[in-house]
Amino acid sequence: MRFSEQQLEKIFLRTSGYCHICHKKLGINNYAAEGKRGAWEVEHSNPQAKGGTHRLTNLYPACIRCNRTKGTKSSRVARAKHGKTRAPLSHLKRRKAKVTNAFKGALLGGVTGIFIAVDVAGALVLVGVLIGYWRNPDAD
Ligand SMILES: [Zn+2]
Repeated sequence: MRFSEQQLEKIFLRTSGYCHICHKKLGINNYAAEGKRGAWEVEHSNPQAKGGTHRLTNLYPACIRCNRTKGTKSSRVARAKHGKTRAPLSHLKRRKAKVTNAFKGALLGGVTGIFIAVDVAGALVLVGVLIGYWRNPDAD
């Protein structure tokens, strides 16, 4: 099946541009560019051979190796081989998770500061925000 640029972008952003199976970073401009860094293909989570549709909810970006080795296995089985239990967060969910993590980090930093040394509480809040924001939300 051939996808439009718009469809490819939507599929790519479903996982923030990571392979939904192994979580490797993909390059949006390297769609079907075999041999290039971050090359990817559209993967049918529920395989076409098992009645999987071309609807967006069934389509994910995957690195070429994962897509071609998955075959008719389920996404759950394919992800488990890489120690993953779910697809990476979408672009929007990732952004929300980063903000939430930043708040949690601020709270943790502030509370730690109150108990350890009040004069450095502000600095610990800032450290908490930064650690919370930069932490990979897919590690949760
Ligand atoms: Zn992969």
